[in-house]
Amino acid sequence: MSISIEQLAKLGQTDQELVVLQRKLSDVEKEIAGARLVVDRLEKSLKEKQHQFDEVTENRRLGQQKLGEADIFITKLEAQVPMIRTQKEFVAGKKQLEDARKHRGTIENELLECEINLDEYEADLKKLQEQMDEANEGFQKNIADLLKEQKSSTKKLEKLKKNKVELIGKLDPNIAAQYNNFLKRGITPAICQVVNKACTGCNSSLQPQFVNEMIGDPSQHRHCPFCFRILYYIPEPEKS
Ligand SMILES: [Zn+2]
Repeated sequence: MSISIEQLAKLGQTDQELVVLQRKLSDVEKEIAGARLVVDRLEKSLKEKQHQFDEVTENRRLGQQKLGEADIFITKLEAQVPMIRTQKEFVAGKKQLEDARKHRGTIENELLECEINLDEYEADLKKLQEQMDEANEGFQKNIADLLKEQKSSTKKLEKLKKNKVELIGKLDPNIAAQYNNFLKRGITPAICQVVNKACTGCNSSLQPQFVNEMIGDPSQHRHCPFCFRILYYIPEPEKS
């Protein structure tokens, strides 16, 4: 293999490795974000449920206060009964006492509803907390591996990028300019090997004449007639 083709091939392979590694890194990053998602969702549900629980607890406190006030009022009304002298006073007093007891009954019903809700919310909170602990444990275990993978892939990526800069520096200035042009247009890998008589960049089959010319002189690069990528050909090792 001529030196320039060897450099081209190395750069092409480096670019290909970069593409694979970048995809892998992006997958790992997505997985990291996804791993946290379950925990985040449970955390949100837990907060909402806690808020409902606190609200009902406050309602219960207010209800108990009202119940105490109603009791005092009823006691006061009952104390007044022996002092009633007229039939009119008796009817009015009886009616007032009945209303006060009815009102107390309503408060009691509301309190009972609060208690039922609180029991339910408490059970929900316990269940959610258990689910979250479990999810969190799984997340911590998972994330350690993912972060390790992310770190090692990032390191490999940096090394490949450094190699790439060095390889571009060694290229013939003309080819380097063409190559940079491809990069500017976001076409990567821009340098591809001819394998099975096809361009590995766009996967198009190449004309037999074109392939024969490349086989005849593997020291020269060509451009794919379909995608214009820089093509190189590596002769198969001779069978002994
Ligand atoms: Zn092509």
